[in-house]
Amino acid sequence: MTDPRHPFPKGTILGYPRIGRRRELKRAVEAHWSGAIDAAALEQSAAELRRATREHLAALGLGRDDSSIPESFSFYDQVHDAAVAVGALPERFAGLRDADGRIGLEAYFTAARGAGEDAPLEMTKWFDTNYHYLVPEIGPETVFALSSDRFARQVAEAKADGFTVRPVVVGPVTLLALAKATDAAHSADGREEAFDPLERLDDLLPVYAELLAGLRAAGAEWVQLDEPALVSESLPAAPKRLADAAARAYAVLGAAAERPAILVAAGYAQLSEQAWSALGAAPIEAIAVDLTRGGVPGVVDGLSGKTLVGGVVDGRNIWRGDLEGGWETLSQLAALGAADIAVGTSTSLQHVPHDVADETALDPRLASWLAFADQKVGQVVTLATGLVRGRPAIAGALGEASAALADRRSAPGVRDGAVRGRASRLESRDFERGDYDARVAAQEAELDLPLLPTTTIGSFPQTGDIRRARASHGRGELAGTEYERFLRDEIARVVTLQEDIGLDVLVHGEAERNDMVQYFAEHLDGFAVTENGWVQSYGSRATRPSILWGDVSRPAPITVAWSTFAQSLTDKPMKGMLTGPVTILAWSFVRDDQPLGETANQVALALRDEIADLEGAGIRVIQVDEPALRELLPLKRADQPPYLEWSVGSFRLATAGAAASTQVHTHLCYSEFDAVIDAIAALDADVTSIEAARSRGEVIGDIASSGFAAGIGPGVYDIHSPRIPSVDEITELLDRAVAELPLRRVWVNPDCGLKTRGYDETVASLRNLVAAAQTARAAVPA
Ligand code: GLN
Ligand code: ZN
Repeated sequence: MTDPRHPFPKGTILGYPRIGRRRELKRAVEAHWSGAIDAAALEQSAAELRRATREHLAALGLGRDDSSIPESFSFYDQVHDAAVAVGALPERFAGLRDADGRIGLEAYFTAARGAGEDAPLEMTKWFDTNYHYLVPEIGPETVFALSSDRFARQVAEAKADGFTVRPVVVGPVTLLALAKATDAAHSADGREEAFDPLERLDDLLPVYAELLAGLRAAGAEWVQLDEPALVSESLPAAPKRLADAAARAYAVLGAAAERPAILVAAGYAQLSEQAWSALGAAPIEAIAVDLTRGGVPGVVDGLSGKTLVGGVVDGRNIWRGDLEGGWETLSQLAALGAADIAVGTSTSLQHVPHDVADETALDPRLASWLAFADQKVGQVVTLATGLVRGRPAIAGALGEASAALADRRSAPGVRDGAVRGRASRLESRDFERGDYDARVAAQEAELDLPLLPTTTIGSFPQTGDIRRARASHGRGELAGTEYERFLRDEIARVVTLQEDIGLDVLVHGEAERNDMVQYFAEHLDGFAVTENGWVQSYGSRATRPSILWGDVSRPAPITVAWSTFAQSLTDKPMKGMLTGPVTILAWSFVRDDQPLGETANQVALALRDEIADLEGAGIRVIQVDEPALRELLPLKRADQPPYLEWSVGSFRLATAGAAASTQVHTHLCYSEFDAVIDAIAALDADVTSIEAARSRGEVIGDIASSGFAAGIGPGVYDIHSPRIPSVDEITELLDRAVAELPLRRVWVNPDCGLKTRGYDETVASLRNLVAAAQTARAAVPA
């Protein structure tokens, strides 16, 4: 084993937000995409942002020259950065390489965003977070070669400013484990072959070795290789296979002659036992483990020459947390016999906003309980000081953190007696809607819908006018009554349009909503919203999750006035539109002081009241969206059944008060049903709409074979692209659905909401959708 040339610092973070405090990177990148600034100007703003970030982290107390500042910048996505560095660019983008084969910025962005007929890389959720990475495409034919020196250039850039940074690169095992096989890896008839990108590990490692040599030459003393795949039990490759791959990878990389000292970081959950042994045995210098999810690992061989970085500061939530507890955990880690102990975050801080100090409108008491990225850096620095100078040196800071925690526990609103009382009186029948067939009969009598009914998922295009009106209302320039009139006009327009197109179940279009979760957060007690709390979602996109800090209740009806106004304009059924409890939790920062299931039930009860009010106002179809049901699925198999139990339970609690004659819909944004098909059936919705168009209806077969018997709308129109699907194409998907599913249960709808689309393509596509449904109806034998 190589001895580290430089000791690991006593404290570090595994990564910092890269979008900029005021989303500077988004602005620069989008300006470049639109042609407003050239590549050189973009590179310059990115360099300025990186410089400001390093200076800022140093000012917060991370050392300039001891590798404790990570270099974790990315123009778009860290997985894509690594894939591009090793040359894993799909064949369809090969023409965009430079003459010498290098992959420059334009090729990088084009692969991320697509061009004409060339589809972009797929995007999917990064572990169980809301961050989306670009899925590398790797097959037997992929040629690995160092194709970008961007990582090394950033190290050199920092060096020139007097910083010895620690570059952060997605590690080889995780890169391959997250990749999908290229088309070339499929047989000619298009069936999936069992090609596993991990089979290419030995071909990839020499390129990583070369990458590491380049980083060393640029002045890096340490490199951080992120290997979160080693914690997951939800990837195609089993934990044992991943651990074996890690053993192989780090035996090879550790033996490389010219390299920085290696820190392997495995956040997001507890390392599998096999991976822990593999890393212990590997000739690397440090391992970072997530100690916020799962306990301190057991003693394992090989630690005596390594530094263990204890991730006790949670990189994913926004709570100030328990520093005393973190200190205790570090002491337990110290007992494992490693050469040295350091404190770290559990994951990169890319999942939290920059700075609580930017939230001037937050209640100061609530703000005192929070820690965004900068406050988390402060916590790391505090604990690191304790490791260097002993606990007494930080006793004051630990005490302050504990006092804040105690204050939070006892603050008004955190516990609301009425909410708790109601939750404590719940009985099993509150979760039961009653016999499905009886519901179908009641709904048929009530709604009088044709066969293959058509509908949309809820939102209509959010035009510039709508966004401008909302913003000017938000700034106080557009008065409430005028804004309301604007929205009513918008709703009326959307209703007339749907009648004209000939849809069967209409929607009001959701023009009043900025975001399907934030809108509800703004109208429920127990939530706070931020001004600048942006978190990268993917590429240049960021969201501003709400903070669910207290017991949740509904002070007044939220959607009822809009839905009833919309219903008053038409004889067709108007669908009420709500966001479900699981999705509200998944896309917010949620309190960590009670089980998620308890919080979910509070949200569910608020929604249950909303549903009762919608019914009371004459709404007969109500959709409760749960696009996040699957993404919150825990990485560890043992945690999945309890998760599905509370998540499904909360949906049922929200909807089970509805009358048999009220048709409850739900919408899910994906088509991977593997682990969750039983849970989806258990939601017991009358109609479920799902994503299906991108896979050309492949999922229909899975649904049919699962025995799913309720109403189902496999999306026949891919709303993620501006393409207009032809009538033939939609008909083909419908034919498939009708052939494989019970005819009377099939619905016709797009894949998802239309809010990101423009009107021209939306109207044309919906007309084709209705035409295809009419053709399919006519083809049904009488
Ligand atoms: N009702 C929402 C919409 O139509 C659903 C969005 C989603 O599933 N992400 O926009
Ligand atoms: Zn959707």
